[in-house]
Amino acid sequence: MSQKNKMVSKAIEDRDFTVVVRCRPPRYKEHEQLAVSIDLGTEEITLKDLDAKDESAAPKTFCFDRVFNSLASQQTIFDDVVRPLIQRVLEGYNGTILAYGEQGAGKTYTMTGNLYASKEDHGLVPRAIEEIFRGIENTKSKQYLVYCSFLLIYSEQITDLLSNEKRQRLVLRERTDGNVFALGSTSWHVKNSEELMGKYLQGLRQQQVLATNMSVPSSRVFSIFAIRFESFELDASGKVSACVNNLIFVDCAASTRSTKSGITDSRHQEARNIAKSVSTFGVVISALTDPKGKHIPYRDSKFTYLLKNSLGGNTKTILIANIRPDGTCYNETLNTLRLATRARLLKNIAKINYRDSILQDIQAELNLLKRQLNFAQTGLDNQQMLLNQENEPNQNGNEIEEEKDYNKREKKHIESLIEATMRQVARIEEIVDEQKNEAYKLLREKAKECERVIAHRVMVEAFIESIKNQKPSIG
Ligand code: ADP
Ligand code: MG
Repeated sequence: MSQKNKMVSKAIEDRDFTVVVRCRPPRYKEHEQLAVSIDLGTEEITLKDLDAKDESAAPKTFCFDRVFNSLASQQTIFDDVVRPLIQRVLEGYNGTILAYGEQGAGKTYTMTGNLYASKEDHGLVPRAIEEIFRGIENTKSKQYLVYCSFLLIYSEQITDLLSNEKRQRLVLRERTDGNVFALGSTSWHVKNSEELMGKYLQGLRQQQVLATNMSVPSSRVFSIFAIRFESFELDASGKVSACVNNLIFVDCAASTRSTKSGITDSRHQEARNIAKSVSTFGVVISALTDPKGKHIPYRDSKFTYLLKNSLGGNTKTILIANIRPDGTCYNETLNTLRLATRARLLKNIAKINYRDSILQDIQAELNLLKRQLNFAQTGLDNQQMLLNQENEPNQNGNEIEEEKDYNKREKKHIESLIEATMRQVARIEEIVDEQKNEAYKLLREKAKECERVIAHRVMVEAFIESIKNQKPSIG
């Protein structure tokens, strides 16, 4: 890494909101109409409007925390931008990396890369997965539990890409610390980089299945791969201090649609939903950076609500704006650069996320699930009552049965979630106990060592005294 890069990485490490821009290499005929020029010395990007007839349409120049031209390798971006963040995440900070840009600008290449080509083509997520477990291995003073989840937002619906359940209706809930989570989404405990990578690949495959079977195009979805860390550290008195934090990777839906047509009537609502989630992202950024803006419309879209803590909250966030080098998409590139410029004004305040009790969050989730279960149970009882009142089958009988079936399935689903959450609670209690026992053992050994040293010192002092008292035998 050059001296300059080192300095910038250091700055990125300490900054709470960072905006970098990556321009992908030109493809096919794009070589003939290049509109973007990049100055690595000043971190500036200049965009020319190739169609401008008017001489006064001067090129527009933007400055960012870091810019990468089409020669920048996956390794360079990882080393300069993501590696320093991972170090902070292992210390207990929240981290988020967002790839934003129009369709075909290189978001998925940056995040995932080409996993079936050589390692050089691997994106930020697979590289981060390896780095995380290398870091954990080297941090002897802490014990980490690592979990992952993989969600997809399409047309304002949240799907759990790692769930075995077919029917899902995930809703968002906010914790008192401002973290928003999808209630009932699965969270998988992983012990090493292979297991974590396995889950990432499983989610990507599931995304592919949705794309094929249900025509959910990858350019219209937000995919959110979240890694959750629970870490424990012992102080000298045997007290366990705990941290809970997340590292989130987001591959955003395309900021603009590449084809203006192609939406059938039946898909109108869907198209509106998709447009809404993308535009709300811009609106939230504008509101956060507007000194007069008081209301931040996070809740206007599932994506901005889920990412609330990453936008203006307690997270070290890196926005990677991906752009194309050619002039055929002048407006899209201009929009991306404008949004990224605005985002530079965002002020996140990240802090290490110590917890008094690591069980708090899980207990809260458990309580919510129990309330939901009661609700399902009440529905079930009501329908049973209705059925009992009917002596003869009538037109409502089938509907009631259907609803009853639905409620039964819902109840079973919630019960299995409760069971999984309780197992998680038990596991953490076990680990805390283990840690405490380990600490007490260490303390007992230290106490014995002290006793031995003191006894030794008493002996030495007695010996010195006895020598002092002896009269010299010679001279
Ligand atoms: P997006 O996810 O933004 O729609 P993709 O990541 O799918 O865009 O990129 C579009 C195409 O460009 C893909 O074929 C991808 O492999 C290629 N590509 C993108 N960025 C780069 C890059 N930096 N180097 C080489 N190829 C790239
Ligand atoms: Mg993509």
